[in-house]
Amino acid sequence: TTIPAKCAGCGAKLQTERQQDRGYVPAGALNREPVICQRCFRIKNYNEASSVTLDQNEFLKLLNQVGETKSLVVHIVDIFDFEGSLIGGLSRFVGGNPIILVVNKLDLLPKLVNPNKIVNWVQAQAKELGLRAVDVVVCSAKKNTGFERVIESLERHRDGRDIYVVGATNVGKSTLINRLIRDYSDLDNELTVSQYPGTTLDLVNIPLDDGSSIIDTPGIVYEHRISELAAKKDLQTLLPQGEMKPTVFQLNEQQTVFWDAYARFDFVRGERQSFTFFNSNAISLHRTKLERADSLYEEHKGELLSPPSKEDLDKLPKWTKHAIRIPRGSAKDVFISGLGWVKVNSSSGAELIIHAPKGVKVSIRNSLI
Ligand code: GDP
Repeated sequence: TTIPAKCAGCGAKLQTERQQDRGYVPAGALNREPVICQRCFRIKNYNEASSVTLDQNEFLKLLNQVGETKSLVVHIVDIFDFEGSLIGGLSRFVGGNPIILVVNKLDLLPKLVNPNKIVNWVQAQAKELGLRAVDVVVCSAKKNTGFERVIESLERHRDGRDIYVVGATNVGKSTLINRLIRDYSDLDNELTVSQYPGTTLDLVNIPLDDGSSIIDTPGIVYEHRISELAAKKDLQTLLPQGEMKPTVFQLNEQQTVFWDAYARFDFVRGERQSFTFFNSNAISLHRTKLERADSLYEEHKGELLSPPSKEDLDKLPKWTKHAIRIPRGSAKDVFISGLGWVKVNSSSGAELIIHAPKGVKVSIRNSLI
C-alpha cells in the first residue's frame, strides 16, 4: 500500500517510523479511511467520548470514589461563571487529595486586567467558599494562553499520580483536554474509554509517559446557572464569545435595566451612581423607569425583550426577587450565575432588587475587576 502524503486531520506529513514525532501513524492504521495521524485519532476519539454529563448526586458518588484513590484533582472553572461553576465541597469529597484550580476563559475579561490580580481574587474567593487549592492557574483554552503554567503546575504536584479532571458543563473542559492530548499525552499509548463502575458512564483515560493517566470525568450539570436552564440554541448568546465590552449605566434610584427577558435589575434606592454590566455582548440591555418595568415586561417579553423567545420563556422557571443591599464605600459585584455580573462601585451604598428565574444563583461578592 502507498501512504497518503498528509494526515487528513491536521495536514502533517505522515510517517510510520518515529512514534514521538509529528504525523506518526501506526502501520496497522494505514488502511483506515481517511488516514489520520495518531494524535488526530485520539482527539477524534476523545471528542466522541467526552460529551457525557452527570447530575449532582451521581457526581458526588464519583468524587467519593476519587477520594479513595491517591490522585491529583484538577478542577476547571469558568471565570465568567466562577461561583456557578465551582464545585462546592470538592475538598471534602476528594479526601486528602490535592486540588489544582484551573480558571479558564481568561480571554473574556477586558484585556487590561492583570492576571495576577485575578489569581489573587480567585484564591480569596475559593477560600471563602471552602475550597482549598494547592495552586490556582488562569488560562484560556481557546486562545491557548497560560497553558504552560497549567502543565508546569500539573508536573509540580503530580508526583506520579493519576490526574482526575473535574468541572461543570461548558467550562471548557473538552477544549482544555484536547490541548493536553495534543501537547502532553504519551504518544505510545492509545486513548481509552473505561467505564465508571456500576454505570454506563464513560471516563476517558489519557495515558501519560510515566504509566499514570489523565482521567476525564463527565461534566456536572448545575441548574443554578441560567446557561443550564436556557434553551440550547441560546447558549451561544448567553456565553460570551470573546472579550466582554462592559456597559456603564449612570442610574438614578427607581430605574430598571433588563437583560433581554432573562433577568432584571432594579435600582431601588441610593444616590445617582454608575453600574457596570458584564455580560455577553449578544445580550441587549434595556433601561426604563422602575414604575414602567412591569408593564414593559408584560408587553415586550419574548419580542423586543428576547431571547428567550415566548415559547422558551414558558419553559424557564418564573422569576423570583432577590433584595440586595450594597454597603457604603465598597466595590461589589452582583453576580447572576450564567448571565454575568454588575459592578457596583458605591461610595454611598445602594438598595437593589434582582429578578431572575427561580433557582438561579444570585449573590454578592467582592469585585473581580
Ligand atoms: P465542556 O462542556 O466543559 O467540555 O466545555 P467545552 O470545551 O465544550 O466548551 C464550552 C464552550 O466554551 C464552547 O463554546 C467553547 O468554545 C468555549 N470555550 C472553551 N474554552 C474557552 C476559553 O478559553 N475562552 C472562551 N472564550 N471560550 C472557551
